[in-house]
Amino acid sequence: MSEKKRKPIRWGMVGGGRGSQIGYIHRSAALRDDTFALVAGAFDLDPERGRSFGVDLGLDRGRSYPDYQTMLAEEGKRPDGIEAVSIATPNNTHFSICKAALEYGLHVVCEKPLCFTVTEAKELKALAEARGLIVGVTYGYAGHQMIEQARAMVKNGDLGEIRIVNLQFAHGFHSAPVEEQNPSTRWRVDPKFAGPSYVLGDVGTHPIYISEVILPHLKIKRLMCVRQSFVKSRAPLEDNAITLMEYDNGAVANVWSSAVNAGSMHGQKVRIVGSKASIEWWDERPNQLSYEIQGEPVRILERGMDYLYPEARLDDRIGGGHPEGLFEAWANLYRRFALAINDNRGLAPEGIENLCFPGIDAGLEGVRWVENCVRSADQGGIWVDYG
Ligand code: NAD
Repeated sequence: MSEKKRKPIRWGMVGGGRGSQIGYIHRSAALRDDTFALVAGAFDLDPERGRSFGVDLGLDRGRSYPDYQTMLAEEGKRPDGIEAVSIATPNNTHFSICKAALEYGLHVVCEKPLCFTVTEAKELKALAEARGLIVGVTYGYAGHQMIEQARAMVKNGDLGEIRIVNLQFAHGFHSAPVEEQNPSTRWRVDPKFAGPSYVLGDVGTHPIYISEVILPHLKIKRLMCVRQSFVKSRAPLEDNAITLMEYDNGAVANVWSSAVNAGSMHGQKVRIVGSKASIEWWDERPNQLSYEIQGEPVRILERGMDYLYPEARLDDRIGGGHPEGLFEAWANLYRRFALAINDNRGLAPEGIENLCFPGIDAGLEGVRWVENCVRSADQGGIWVDYG
């Protein structure tokens, strides 16, 4: 894909302030390829802390704003105002900030979950479409190159007919009530800030999106979910959940979402079982994909190698053997967000029609999945038709 030289997209941030968990990776990913330039921000709930953080990042003091409403209004008056904004605040604010940014005519990169309900997600989708704006959602792990290899292998029939999808994102970091000390965890277990779920939305939606990328032809027909609060004070929000799913082609799936898998680091794994072979990807070894043909020795495919499908080498920056990680995966996604935005502005290079990135539909589908899981779990774990 050839790159035309063009000016970076003028970009602002809401949230992601000093000490936040996810702000740094947004900046590092967006700025990696000079596709975005950070020119404004409302980084923090605390106006003065946010302002001084923006100045430390190199912003003009006047463009490091006390709150996002002021940023949108002031930037909207400038001929060189921001063209896109990233939202890296707690979940309860995503809907209103995203809506306001779209109403100001800005492209948006929003943290997951996009919002709390499918109704809200549809409203954002309608607004983005009416204004002709891009909304990207940071399912960052999907930017790993071996996900593209897995997608191409399924598309090319290397696995045969898909039968079983085995998904998990089950870490152990919240096996004890760490929220008593840690503010980044505290809001995650409070429905006012986190929404209708904790681990389903916080971690489960990541492998769900990856499965949508690898298996675009599979549509969920029905599911059942049970959820638990092993740390009792987290109720009604769950710190562990198990979901079973049936797809409309007869394939089945299970999804384990957890923050209490004691001893596990990330534990995000995606295993796809077909009639001929299986593949397995683990986010703690993201440069490898296990390819297991029935009756043959296991093959470990490595990132950046010539034997991969071309789609899996499009984002290659340095060649095989050099380990890449989450920062590169996010940078790949931000580069695709920039391509989509530039395409929207008539500035993109040729050949990006097949660009695969988590957009507004990915955001909506994540919210839909959580909503269905909660509907099932709250009726005692019954099968529900996917709505
Ligand atoms: P955090 O609590 O560590 O940081 C939140 C930041 O937002 C803080 O700087 C806070 O001051 C700021 N903030 C809060 N309300 C604000 C407002 N109204 N205006 C401006 N700033 C505001 O949270 P976090 O862990 O960084 O999570 C933020 C979001 O990112 C959440 O939605 C979370 O689900 C998501 N997240 C996504 C991933 C991923 O892999 N995509 C990973 C971690 C977190």
